[in-house]
Amino acid sequence: MIDFEQIRQLVDIRQAAEMYGLEVNRAGMARCIFHGDRNPSMKMYDDHFHCYACGAHGDVTDLTAQMFGLTKNEAADKLCADFGISGSSPPMIAPKRKRILSGRERVQRAFDVLTDYIVMLREFRVMYAPTDQGEPLDSRFILSLQQLDYAEYLWDELLDSTENERAEFISANIPQFRRYYDSLKMYGHLRPSMQKTHTERTENYGRKAG
Ligand SMILES: [Zn+2]
Repeated sequence: MIDFEQIRQLVDIRQAAEMYGLEVNRAGMARCIFHGDRNPSMKMYDDHFHCYACGAHGDVTDLTAQMFGLTKNEAADKLCADFGISGSSPPMIAPKRKRILSGRERVQRAFDVLTDYIVMLREFRVMYAPTDQGEPLDSRFILSLQQLDYAEYLWDELLDSTENERAEFISANIPQFRRYYDSLKMYGHLRPSMQKTHTERTENYGRKAG
């Protein structure tokens, strides 16, 4: 009896993809193997992949089946053998660690980062606005000009999304959230609760660098 759910839980899809020769970049993106992909369109999530170009979607067993031209059952057998799931052979790699943040917590963090970033930029817009014509513009004022509209747009999008859309939305915008987080840190606007959880955040927003 093959338990696809058990495989999903025990095998890190990204690790498997890389072990089988797929190049996954820092953002968790790879060139899709379901269509002729010239730029990475396929995103690796915690327990599934999704291609934003062709819509291909599935778990680690689907991915393995496609990569090696196997049926789903054959792919599951291969994964069990390669990752030592049957218990008969020692695993080639350690099972993946449990996720630290729940989906709900992740959404809350995303809101926190966005909110604080917007508040900071609104402050910058007022506090560092030029008072004289010809005065060189303060970099913080420029930052607010460049970033505020887009950050507010992201906030609205996040607010208007359903629960399910939020997870995808946050994953798709991780580089943006990381920049906002770094910016908050740089200007000393990071709220204490975020400083404490920096390690968690890095792990969840950054994933492991390939
Ligand atoms: Zn695709």
